Amino acid sequence: MPANTHLPTASRLPAPCRDEAAVLQGLLAGLRRDGPFDWHAVIRMAEPWVAAVRAKPAPFWAMESLLREYPISSAEGLALMRLAEALLRVPDAATAIALTADQLGRADFSQGAVEGSQHTLLAGISASALGLAKRMLRTGGEKPGLIDRLGAQTVVAATVRAIGLLGRQFVLGQTIASALGEAHAQRRAAPQLRFSFDMLGEGARTDADALRYHGAYVAALQAIAASTRGANPAERDGLSIKLSALHPRYEEHQLDRVHAELLPRVTTLIDLAAAADINLTIDAEESDRLELSLTVFEALADHVAATAPGWSGFGLAIQSYQTRARAMIDAVAAIGRARGLRFMVRLVKGAYWDGEIKRAQELGLDGYPVFTHKHHTDISYLACAQALIGHAEVILPQFATHNAGTIAAILQMAASRPGVRFEMQRLHGMGEAVYREVLAAHPALPLRIYAPVGEHRDLLAYLVRRLLENGANSSFVHQLADPSVAPDDLLRSPLQPAQVPGQPAPVALYGPGRANSRGLDLAVPEQRTPLLAALATSTVPAVAEATVDACDAAMARLQAGFETWSARPLAERAAAIARAGDRLQDALPHFCALLVKEAGKTWGDAVAEVREAVDFCRYYVQQALEKLQPVDLPGPTGERNTLRLHGRGVFVCISPWNFPLAIFAGQVVAALVTGNSVAAKPAEQTPGVATAFVDLLHAAGVPADALALLHGPGETVGARLVAHPAVAGVCFTGSTQVAKAIQRSLAAGDGPIVPLIAETGGLNAMVVDSSALPEQVVDAVVQSAFRSAGQRCSALRLLCLHSGIADTVATMLQGALAGLRVGDAADLATDVGPVIDAEAHAGLSRHVQRLEREARLLGRAPMAAAFAASHIAPVAFEVGAVEDLKQEVFGPVLHVLRWDGDVGDLVARINRLGYGLTLGVQTRIDSRAQQIADQARVGNVYVNRNMVGAVVGVQPFGGDGLSGTGPKAGGPHYLYRFCAEQTLTVNTAAAGGNAALLAGTPAQA
Ligand SMILES: Cc1cc2nc3c(=O)[nH]c(=O)nc-3n(C[C@H](O)[C@H](O)[C@H](O)COP(=O)(O)OP(=O)(O)OC[C@H]3O[C@@H](n4cnc5c(N)ncnc54)[C@H](O)[C@@H]3O)c2cc1C
Repeated sequence: MPANTHLPTASRLPAPCRDEAAVLQGLLAGLRRDGPFDWHAVIRMAEPWVAAVRAKPAPFWAMESLLREYPISSAEGLALMRLAEALLRVPDAATAIALTADQLGRADFSQGAVEGSQHTLLAGISASALGLAKRMLRTGGEKPGLIDRLGAQTVVAATVRAIGLLGRQFVLGQTIASALGEAHAQRRAAPQLRFSFDMLGEGARTDADALRYHGAYVAALQAIAASTRGANPAERDGLSIKLSALHPRYEEHQLDRVHAELLPRVTTLIDLAAAADINLTIDAEESDRLELSLTVFEALADHVAATAPGWSGFGLAIQSYQTRARAMIDAVAAIGRARGLRFMVRLVKGAYWDGEIKRAQELGLDGYPVFTHKHHTDISYLACAQALIGHAEVILPQFATHNAGTIAAILQMAASRPGVRFEMQRLHGMGEAVYREVLAAHPALPLRIYAPVGEHRDLLAYLVRRLLENGANSSFVHQLADPSVAPDDLLRSPLQPAQVPGQPAPVALYGPGRANSRGLDLAVPEQRTPLLAALATSTVPAVAEATVDACDAAMARLQAGFETWSARPLAERAAAIARAGDRLQDALPHFCALLVKEAGKTWGDAVAEVREAVDFCRYYVQQALEKLQPVDLPGPTGERNTLRLHGRGVFVCISPWNFPLAIFAGQVVAALVTGNSVAAKPAEQTPGVATAFVDLLHAAGVPADALALLHGPGETVGARLVAHPAVAGVCFTGSTQVAKAIQRSLAAGDGPIVPLIAETGGLNAMVVDSSALPEQVVDAVVQSAFRSAGQRCSALRLLCLHSGIADTVATMLQGALAGLRVGDAADLATDVGPVIDAEAHAGLSRHVQRLEREARLLGRAPMAAAFAASHIAPVAFEVGAVEDLKQEVFGPVLHVLRWDGDVGDLVARINRLGYGLTLGVQTRIDSRAQQIADQARVGNVYVNRNMVGAVVGVQPFGGDGLSGTGPKAGGPHYLYRFCAEQTLTVNTAAAGGNAALLAGTPAQA
């Protein structure tokens, strides 16, 4: 029985992806209940602030000024951001020089600066850097001389200093002690200032990271407790924490571990904060953690109620850009009321908007969990502010914004509720000028500054987020800094909802010609329910093996069937396949359950696979309708030339077990829609799901004599089909050896020359240089090497780490492996399910045993003894050379190699392995990524992301060399290979001469 029982079966909040217009109507109705909102009064209040800020701009290093000087839409702004993100962490001089040259070489800081600017620091650095960069990068293979190298190092050192200087403006201190000192100094000038300190760093990828962050939080709380003054948490400094920093698997599906491991860590922080009576706020993170954060918050509230009921300093941040923000506020207030507690709630707009939009599009969700118009986020902010003020007896509202209009609106709102307590908040390094004016007008207004603390190296991800967020054209801070934006526009009322969504729905991502497949958000209980229900009710169909005689009979039937199927109009064939795609979409839970049961897929992989199959149906239909139409060709007058495409005959489609639905479906529907009849042979291990899909195709209108499924061993059934005289084409996905056997069999036949489309394996590498971000690398590696138990053709087999960061990444990888869950595929908490069968298990076990003897073990995922016979625990070994990899090892076994020196040499060695499927590249040096992609002889190159999960029509998939023949599946050239071509030339002048020509019309026909 899978352990899904620990997961909630119903959401406490409304669905995240509801109709935006409807959500907005509700929010506006709520706002109107307190009477009409007087936006003119808001403008009257905020206009003088805006004028004053523009008259007396913020200092150069404030975010506002920086964005004005170097907008992120400019080459300079982008270069600055890239350098800021990466340069300080690069450990070796050669990479630092290459990165600096690459980025500064793309920008011109002396020209890019705003006219009349006095800010010449970067201009000066970059002018000399550019000259040096050009000399460093000279062509013709000349190596730079010593002087050049020394010069380049000076440029890098100066750039590092400039970036460090930039960073310093956004951290209050490198240690909590220095930050507290700075906070006290600022308070001397402005006594109403409070601070919420934030200990910088990326989210934890390992338990060791999480414990380190926990230690930093503890130390910070102790230091704040010892130094802060004030009567209560509202008057004292406090701490902001991220739950993702305290546990590497702060995820919905890991709820049991969140309870068992994360909660005790947060509890110790709560105890410290409560004892010192200071504010502890949980930052808001991605929307798929919202429900989880509410569960955690409630559990912690229980603890507070039991141990420190009088403490009013516990709080959390809520993002108004989320469609569920308003409901979240009521839920938090209810938790407080039920326990007699008071909380502090920080209302922010939200920092991850771009990421939320991308995730929803990638998952094919029903809509977006965030608003898609900036001013809708603002409306939501006001509605949430009103709600927070309404809950004032249990919540102290903390309004975090730099937007003058929003600040004025909050002050108006609060003025209508005399006596209500609240505070404003801003980020350190931002909004200083606006609040200078606000505080001049409202000297008693409490203001809390969110103050990052940490080394400059740790600041960078935070800084880049801020640059991105505020560099957006829609951002208030950005517009405030842009003098061409009139105050009227800057302070325009947001209260007019837009009529159309700001983003195409995820389903409309590919335009009107093709609907994107719909996915499920497994973080939402209601979306999991149909899957779990299907698991309980679905049965994998039993499929009888075909005899060799049955194969012959089927081929004969299909040969006859081809005549009628290929004679059907293209539109009819396409309609049948389109219908099948739609029905498969509707039956997604059932097919997911089959994949989990028959192929040991995890739920996430199963949903992705069914979606891929749906996409194949729709994409090939679209392609067929577009590409298979007759084409008129130019030629001499008096004749008509037409190129026509039609099916070849009986196609034999042989697919593997690792994508028993998606690859099977892709091959079969491509062959069918082009007019072929199909003998489909699924993998021996997975005939059930293939049968279910064939039944679906038949029910959708594909005749039985145009498509037959023949199940059985490759050696007998597969071999017989391929060798049959009626075969007109073979489409195969599987091992290189079998592809070659098929090729030989086809070559041995006496009949027509039969085309073979083969997609085979790969020895896929990922090249990581020392400018890469280790956390991002480890995320990509775990997904690429271990997801699907490494049983993907595209999976990562050889991780090549630059020696400058190899130890760091290897340690993090070891920790990430330790956090993986190996187990029952049907359990939503499982990351890695079984390998396909006993034979695969035995082969992988032997390989692991050999590596245990010959290589250095870097890390291994834990695995319960109960799974030892069916699963292989994900494992990583360090090997000595690229050439140590002899053949594809199809499982969760990663080989890791250190490299140094010229990356071109490394890529050449990878090329010499002879495979050419996928390659991952992790670098911040854009020109290097390009160089590697140009040099690599592979079909799919992925830069700074994982290297699996190719999407139909987006990343057409397939390689060359030992990896296959092409054309790429899911790509625009695929269907042609299933077709025969014919030109039809008609002499239109045959009867009586060329009437059109004589009539004076230059006509083709
Ligand atoms: C004290 C403090 C603490 C913070 N803590 C957190 C936190 O815990 N979690 C967190 O996520 N953020 C946090 N933030 C960051 C905060 O989300 C941003 O600073 C904030 O969004 C900027 O809002 P603004 O009112 O200053 O700017 P504005 O420019 O008025 O608003 C920007 C907002 O609009 C959103 N937006 C932009 N385009 C669109 C669009 N097309 N459709 C819908 N929305 C859009 C942006 O994503 C952003 O949320 C914190 C900020 C402060 C000041």
